Amino acid sequence: MAILEVLHFPDDRLRNKALPVDNIDLKIKEIAENMLETMYAENGIGLAATQVNILKRIVVIDLSEEKNRPLVLVNPRITKLEGKESMREGCLSVPDYFDTVERAEKIEFNYKTLENEIVNMETDGLLAVCVQHEIDHLNGKLFIDYLSPLKRQRLKKKIEKLERQDAKAL
Ligand code: ZN
Repeated sequence: MAILEVLHFPDDRLRNKALPVDNIDLKIKEIAENMLETMYAENGIGLAATQVNILKRIVVIDLSEEKNRPLVLVNPRITKLEGKESMREGCLSVPDYFDTVERAEKIEFNYKTLENEIVNMETDGLLAVCVQHEIDHLNGKLFIDYLSPLKRQRLKKKIEKLERQDAKAL
């Protein structure tokens, strides 16, 4: 297993669109394992393959306190969106920034497991938000895209400034 590098906004590679997984083989299982390890190492609750520069439609999620209930979604697809809910979100690709995003409150979605089984699921609350956030990543979309352009521009400047300071400190 290996910890992968998580791309940070405004890296253009976060805008790439991931492609469907045709065949769940050992390689895909290894990617999922590495993604889980990376997510746990970074203290995240979800990670999409595009965030580690792998353009495959794979998402890992673990909402449990003990970090022992991993969920691997291959080719996840939302089939129904219902209602509206606002929640404060963060993202491993946008470190130290949190903001409120409005999304569907309740969703129905399906995905393939690593055992090649198709699962249909209906959910709400944090899991519904998380699945929407991660599938956005697979489509090259970030949660900050829902903010006003002015807010996003300010955030970009702040991050670039921080990165310049980091560079000088070396
Ligand atoms: Zn994210």
